[in-house]
Amino acid sequence: MRTAKILATVGPASREPSMLDALLAAGVNGFRVNFSHGLASEHRETVANIRAAAERAGRHVAILGDLSGPKIRCGTFASGPVNLAEGQRFTLTMRAVPGDASIVSCTYPLARDLKPGDTVLLDDGLLRFRVHEIVDDDVVCVVEVGGTLSDRKGINVPGATLSTPALTPKDHQDAKLAQELGVDYLALSFVRRPSDLDEARALIGEGVPLIAKIEKPEAVANLEAILDRCEGLMVARGDLGVELGPEKVPLVQKEAIRLANARNKLVITATQMLDSMIRSPRPTRAEAADVANAVLDASDVLMLSGETASGRYPVESVAMMDTIIREIEASALYRTRNATTTFEYEWDFASACAASAAITSRHAKLAGIVVFSYSGHTADLVAEFRPAAPIVAVTPSARVAQRLALQWGVVPAVREMPATPNDALRIAEEVARARLDARDGDTVAIVVGSQKHSGTKSFVLDTLGR
Ligand code: PGA
Ligand code: MN
Repeated sequence: MRTAKILATVGPASREPSMLDALLAAGVNGFRVNFSHGLASEHRETVANIRAAAERAGRHVAILGDLSGPKIRCGTFASGPVNLAEGQRFTLTMRAVPGDASIVSCTYPLARDLKPGDTVLLDDGLLRFRVHEIVDDDVVCVVEVGGTLSDRKGINVPGATLSTPALTPKDHQDAKLAQELGVDYLALSFVRRPSDLDEARALIGEGVPLIAKIEKPEAVANLEAILDRCEGLMVARGDLGVELGPEKVPLVQKEAIRLANARNKLVITATQMLDSMIRSPRPTRAEAADVANAVLDASDVLMLSGETASGRYPVESVAMMDTIIREIEASALYRTRNATTTFEYEWDFASACAASAAITSRHAKLAGIVVFSYSGHTADLVAEFRPAAPIVAVTPSARVAQRLALQWGVVPAVREMPATPNDALRIAEEVARARLDARDGDTVAIVVGSQKHSGTKSFVLDTLGR
């Protein structure tokens, strides 16, 4: 069984029902619906298609809605992409002009926050401009690194502090849509301050876990305070690499994963994991190593972006990611690293039961750990202790099961909750046989986080058929 989870971005290459079926069969645990692209009607259809595919597969699948945030983009070019040469002038403007080789409109009034000398990066940092002067609403730049610029490419201004709000008017609409569509997680792009999370929370209420995308230098500086206000992080290496430089990404990744795990928060490593598989059926060795290292760093979730959204080999990308993760998880290196959990837990009876199950799994052969969890919290706790046996989380709620589909090591199962300790034994044995292939003589750990009508927490070892 694989314990790190796979999140696949849905796009034109993957939103058809048959493709969603194939991606689930290849090992996808959750899908990202990216509100940066596409219409509300398409997102509605995508979410309905995902839920239907999950139903057909008989699995619980998480949906993560991803808000675009204050991403700045250029407008469109009147007669197709333009070639920009080093040394030439090029203007970014707030005026609604048709783009050509000397000017293009953009989605944010950059003239307000930029000054001469500032760096402007375009198209994932492929092109670089230097601000020459500000004239009213226009930012007149000199092209330092030229190339082709086409419609709606991203613009990053690494040095500047932007006065843009955390959530744009479009994000407000998309957040409402995400909520209406019942997404299981909501990701916020370009988070800068801890208060950005409060703003999002006020907008969507308590029900949906928030994932802060770490892709701005300000977010890296505020990591701990941001973590306190969200349910998880995404190490969004694409924009992070543009804003900070690629050399900063590996250590930010390791630190973000460590801090998130220490606080029992979900952590997703994202972007360019198998990038060359957008065009090729085989990854580069560097990409295989990147996936392996993200697992060894203790990511809960690995994300695919263009590979599944718009690439030629979506299913092959998922299958390859699955194969690499399994290879690493079967290694002695992974098992030793995994045994030293960084989780800084509070010692209460729930964490005591969770820790007991995890420690036992490392020293005795368990067929698995069955956790009864109303809210999913006890399942999260058990997972954060990184047990060496699979976790089946039994919960009465399909919503909780969908959320837990992305939790490291957890197989969700929706069942009634036990009313008595004997019930717990009976249901746990049934679940262990059905979901863990447990047979007579196998031992399972049972963790009961919350029982109906009682606050009892328990940890039991049960050998089947005895
Ligand atoms: P994006 O976020 O794919 O929405 O840009 C991820 C990243 O920037 O790495
Ligand atoms: Mn991004």
